[in-house]
Amino acid sequence: MTNQRENSIQIDKDEFRKIGYELIDTISDFFDDISEKPVTTSKSPKELQKTLGNLSLPANGLPAEQLLSKASKLLFDNSLFNGHPKFFGFITSSAAPIGALADLLAASVNANVGGQILSPMATEIEKQTIKWLAEFIGVSPNYGGILVSGGNMANFTAFLAARTAKAPKDIKKDGLSNSSKMLISYCSKATHTWIDKAAILFGHGSNSIRWIPTDAANKMNIELLEQTIKEDVKQGHQPFMVVGTAGDVSTGVVDNLEAIASTCKMHDLWFHIDGAYGIPAAVIPELKDLFAGIKEADSIALDPHKWLYSALEAGCTLVKNPQYLIDTYSSHPEYYNFSLTEEGGSLNYFEYGLQNSRGFRALKVWLALQQIGSNGYVKLIKEDIALSKYFYQLAEKQPELEPITQNLSIATFRFIPEDFEEIGEKREKYLNTLNEELVNAVQNGGELFLSNAIVENKYCLRTCIVNFRTTKKDIEDSIEIIVKEGRKLNNVMQVI
Ligand SMILES: *Cc1c(COP(=O)(O)O)cnc(C)c1O
Repeated sequence: MTNQRENSIQIDKDEFRKIGYELIDTISDFFDDISEKPVTTSKSPKELQKTLGNLSLPANGLPAEQLLSKASKLLFDNSLFNGHPKFFGFITSSAAPIGALADLLAASVNANVGGQILSPMATEIEKQTIKWLAEFIGVSPNYGGILVSGGNMANFTAFLAARTAKAPKDIKKDGLSNSSKMLISYCSKATHTWIDKAAILFGHGSNSIRWIPTDAANKMNIELLEQTIKEDVKQGHQPFMVVGTAGDVSTGVVDNLEAIASTCKMHDLWFHIDGAYGIPAAVIPELKDLFAGIKEADSIALDPHKWLYSALEAGCTLVKNPQYLIDTYSSHPEYYNFSLTEEGGSLNYFEYGLQNSRGFRALKVWLALQQIGSNGYVKLIKEDIALSKYFYQLAEKQPELEPITQNLSIATFRFIPEDFEEIGEKREKYLNTLNEELVNAVQNGGELFLSNAIVENKYCLRTCIVNFRTTKKDIEDSIEIIVKEGRKLNNVMQVI
């Protein structure tokens, strides 16, 4: 290349290739022996700071090669690997390796997917990705939508569209404070905390949420939902949306979506589904009934970075009538000479969501969808569910483990010491403390990683499998480790 400015930002072609190949070599080694590493090193922030070094920002630049090799070492030696075959915590998947390459490519092109004019092909790829996601989970491909950073943002994006659709029209001008009626949203008490954040941040206040109790199967109690809506209307409030959860974060339960849909129809409410974790399982033929009603949803949140194996970050909002997104998010400053969305088939994603400049997160989702294919996903998701059932069955067989719940790919269970004869309140209190300590000990041990759930006041160990590297052997080994650790802790705690 001729006519270059002299600067410290440029990396010349030969050097870029050399550093790039070295980095790819390091990354392929990492993927290859990820199962040999501890899931996490459990170093304290203090120890990590020491490893990182208290350096000041260099005044003069350093060589890229040296920086990348140092960064690789820091990360590969001091991270928690959710790609590890024995990672079962929270809901973070093992990411499809193609995502790493996709992000490299996306950052190289650096498309700004806020406006079609700035990202001609990237915008088309995102549109196709959205269409595929809708088709994949089994709703009409005419749903429109947008990729966002994750489940929280996907739910927020839908929450605001619901408000536009159902609240008095002057809210956009006058804000909520001028509205005499309180806008109420409804959800089961197992709903993820995003709804709290949304109600608080968007000016509704946490008192505007009705946490509907669950029935014996841990699904939203529809009778109580109906009653509460009627009561609110009587009090002069304005119900506007109901949230059904498709795979709750603690135990994987799917609400009765069909019943919620018909309640929403009856009362003219927006029907939103939080399917951040679970909705990809709608693709499994045997689970069709469980997800009946999803076609009725006005909006759906799903997280490709969970059960679709995208690298972080990738969430998605789907909306049955995408005009509500435009009505919510579009504004046209004089300094944007863009064609409006839909003019000549163009789509400016800044008119579909909260972000203005946007990265090309669609690429990794689009590539993984094709590399794996819909049959590939059906197989992966089915296997994850089967492995979770296996976890549950092994807990059932093991006398010191009490199985508690198993839904989708989440199993919960707890450790009960052999010959444990305590009864009543004292028993539950001891078991809760013991199992809480056990979760911490297992996490710190680094051999496997799981998280916790509280089910009917029982403190449980919780494993969620969204992990294409996990095998039956990993689960058998994990059960052994858990029991061994449980016995050890119990011995120590009994002495105290
Ligand atoms: C994970 C999850 C969220 C939050 O998603 P993030 O991607 O962590 O922002 C919301 N709802 C449900 C049901 C989830 O499982």
